Amino acid sequence: STKKKHSDLPTNLRVAVRIRPMNATEKKDKCSNIVKVEKFNTSVQCKGKPFGPFFKVFDENATQEDVYKDVVSSQTKKVISGFNCTVFAYGQTGTGKTFTMEGGKGDAKSSKDDTSTGIIPRAVEDIFEQLEASGCEEYSLRVSYVELYNEELFDLLAANTEADDRERLRIYDDPSKKGVIVSGVEEVPVRSRADVYKLLELGAEKRRTAATLMNQRSSRSHSLFMVNVVVRENSISGEELVKQGKLNLVDLAGSENIGRSGAQGNRAKEAGSINQSLLTLGRVIRSLTTNAQHIPYRESKLTRLLQDSLGGSTITSLIATMSPASDNFEESQSTLEYAMRAA
Ligand code: ADP
Ligand code: MG
Repeated sequence: STKKKHSDLPTNLRVAVRIRPMNATEKKDKCSNIVKVEKFNTSVQCKGKPFGPFFKVFDENATQEDVYKDVVSSQTKKVISGFNCTVFAYGQTGTGKTFTMEGGKGDAKSSKDDTSTGIIPRAVEDIFEQLEASGCEEYSLRVSYVELYNEELFDLLAANTEADDRERLRIYDDPSKKGVIVSGVEEVPVRSRADVYKLLELGAEKRRTAATLMNQRSSRSHSLFMVNVVVRENSISGEELVKQGKLNLVDLAGSENIGRSGAQGNRAKEAGSINQSLLTLGRVIRSLTTNAQHIPYRESKLTRLLQDSLGGSTITSLIATMSPASDNFEESQSTLEYAMRAA
């Protein structure tokens, strides 16, 4: 499929690759840079092996704004007009998934003053700006933030504070439409970008208290930040029109967990469920792009949760993050293979 021209790719799925700069350890270990972005930024070579074409390949100089503008900005427009869209960050732990989705701490007043701002706060700010500019009088944004760990769903915004008493959520099929209902999930109204940072911090705090080794846990769980947008308008004839759209922003578990054998006990269970959800996600995306009859949504909780937001008139993007260093060759190659299968 490397002969597939970029213009032939379905417009509702975008697979992008983002290569982070070499980090201090990689530099200290005198790693060589094995990744070369081809001109036009649609394909990439990893140790001489070509991968692509992709929607876009971002090299280490790409800014947070570049990534947002090229990949996500048209998705927020679609959400405002009542559709569901999803952005996934996929890749080895330490390659920039959370940096891409969340970014820096958000101390500056707006993302225009803070170059490290990631996709989540930028998207919310952008949605607010667009709604204000549209002159629409009545709209609301509500946010849910959940973590999927070992095929169990936890609410990262639940009001309780005790570490072991975190809200365990149940999902069941929505009888009236396709998709699922998450019973009792917190939906917090947000009014500004600052609100979003508070919620991200609250979620991070919950994840910290839930595990002594936060990084390990976060590398083995998926986090889903969901923005529900409701816009009410009156038509010329006075009828009320309600548009409801949803933007899902998903920071996936580290892809190094895929295909890892030999883990025992709880580790094996974790690795198994991560494999299952990442592989099912890959298969769901692939079935959507090939217009397959059967889409295996039900084979993992992740894809069940997102069933109403993948396929149809949605836009889905997957940003595969990777290191440029020779030390990570195997993981980088496997990330590019996964991205190629999705594209
Ligand atoms: P992941 O979530 O995939 O485990 P992180 O987002 O935590 O990885 O990134 C690991 C480290 O690399 C962080 O310190 C982050 O700030 C840094 N980093 C990642 N991507 C970039 C980038 N494109 N530019 C600069 N620093 C980055
Ligand atoms: Mg992370």
